[in-house]
Amino acid sequence: MRALYWFREDLRLLDNPALTAMAEQAEEAAFLFVLPATNRWSRGEERMGVHRRRFMLESLVALDRSLQERGHRLLVVEGDPVEQVLKVADQLDCAAVYSQQCHTSEEVAAAAAVRLHVPHHSYEGATLVHPQDLPFSVELLPDVFSRFRKKIEKHGLDIRNELPVPSLPSSPEIVANLPDTWSIARMEAPERLAGLPASTMQFTGGAQAGWARLEHYFWQTRALSEYKKTRNGMMGWDYSSKFSPWLAWGCVSPRSIYYAIRRYETDEGSNESTYWLIFELLWRDYFRFIAMQHGDRIFAANGLKEAPRNPISHHPLQWKAWCSGTTRSAFVNANMHELRLTGFMSNRGRQNVASYAVHDMGLDWRACAAWFEHWLIDFDPCSNTGNWLYVAGIGNDPRPQRKFDVEWQASRYDETGAFTAHWNRQGEIFPCNPESIPV
Ligand SMILES: Cc1cc2nc3c(=O)[nH]c(=O)nc-3n(C[C@H](O)[C@H](O)[C@H](O)COP(=O)(O)OP(=O)(O)OC[C@H]3O[C@@H](n4cnc5c(N)ncnc54)[C@H](O)[C@@H]3O)c2cc1C
Repeated sequence: MRALYWFREDLRLLDNPALTAMAEQAEEAAFLFVLPATNRWSRGEERMGVHRRRFMLESLVALDRSLQERGHRLLVVEGDPVEQVLKVADQLDCAAVYSQQCHTSEEVAAAAAVRLHVPHHSYEGATLVHPQDLPFSVELLPDVFSRFRKKIEKHGLDIRNELPVPSLPSSPEIVANLPDTWSIARMEAPERLAGLPASTMQFTGGAQAGWARLEHYFWQTRALSEYKKTRNGMMGWDYSSKFSPWLAWGCVSPRSIYYAIRRYETDEGSNESTYWLIFELLWRDYFRFIAMQHGDRIFAANGLKEAPRNPISHHPLQWKAWCSGTTRSAFVNANMHELRLTGFMSNRGRQNVASYAVHDMGLDWRACAAWFEHWLIDFDPCSNTGNWLYVAGIGNDPRPQRKFDVEWQASRYDETGAFTAHWNRQGEIFPCNPESIPV
């Protein structure tokens, strides 16, 4: 049986359940990634900005390299995912398609549309806790994170074993006949912004770079042992793990990180910091399970509530000020410049700019979440939407109003003002063109 493996949010060979299943069941295989050609919202702006596109292309090049080492190649085509998967499956005479299971509506609909024409087998592989191992059904997921975590911990954290890189079925005939128009080599990644200070964090896509980051954060610097104390930081590489882009693209699995934490604990000792990184991975799981439980409701204006928690007065000038980092808050502005210039923002920064947008400026959380989607290299529909709902008070927060006092937050988390000064200076050097902001 010849199969087509469709890479989606799982750009890795290690600990990939769908890939392992395909390797066990198929006699020959081809490997595909589809770049969406209509990468736009109806409003016209690009859904994927330059930073994420670069990270994605770097991840694809790294994946192609790993496949080539095993006698395969990654096919990269552009267009509508369903059309392209069916076209390639047909052209290569594949009898089945395999992929990782996705949980948000567009991705689910694409998988269902493929399944109408060709057998399509999908497997869970994005979460730390496999959905079937939860001590309750997803429909009965607790609506508050702490209850979810306590139930999981009481039951005993039951994490399936990390799967080795499977031995892939050899397919020399497919590899020999692949057209160059399906090669990643023809794709150019957007250049990095020249002129940012050398200290600026620059992320590189791909599993190898993700593992190098883990090696640095765990064994080279032992920063993991301090994580709980430093995780609310804002400047530099090591205040938090920075694993999110590699997790979002599936270059490294949460299970691999979990078992690396356990190895680290054996070598260096466990403490509340080593536990806290697992705790944060459970937050990531939680938002994925919320998406599974509620489906498209997570994208509704009122989120998971019947009525909005705060009035929306989405004024175009306010909106542009937030996006371009020209609000009345220098702290908010600095974070928004960091996001636009690097594709990353700390968790502390995200919470503050989100609270300010929704509670101080009255902006529509959905437009703000879309701005994040455009710029973040670690954009993940479940984590992004879940966090926006949470901050806006229409998600899984037991508190009715989560409004941050951003000036107090700045004095607490940017005590010397170095972060605010640094990114506002960069914002002046590389200003945002207000014309480029869709209203
Ligand atoms: C408004 C808003 C939008 C966000 N959008 C995204 C997004 O699109 N993609 C994304 O991965 N994270 C998102 N987050 C969550 C969080 O800010 C980032 O995961 C974190 O800042 C990434 O940095 P890190 O890897 O160094 O995190 P660490 O503190 O080192 O945490 C380790 C990992 O745990 C997970 N994690 C930590 N905090 C959260 C959280 N609150 N929600 C979900 N997972 C978490 C991430 O996978 C992260 O890589 C958002 C948060 C807010 C407030």
